Amino acid sequence: MTANKKLKPCPFCGSEAMIVNDWSVGFQKEMYTVECTNDECTATINKMKETQDEVIKIWNRRVDNKITKFDDKEGKKETKKH
Ligand SMILES: [Zn+2]
Repeated sequence: MTANKKLKPCPFCGSEAMIVNDWSVGFQKEMYTVECTNDECTATINKMKETQDEVIKIWNRRVDNKITKFDDKEGKKETKKH
């Protein structure tokens, strides 16, 4: 897998972004999100998807739009499942 190569650099600090594989209690499967690799930069898409392709798309779109904050309403969508 060379998925990381598809990710654009972080729009805030220029560091590489990475796909994070997140398993949370309550999820039936692993979910993916994208975060900046710089520990001092907390950039993330605030959103988890079931496929890497989706989170890559979201991240890159935000980089393109030069969004200065990653906490828009879209990212607050509930992901909990019961
Ligand atoms: Zn960053």
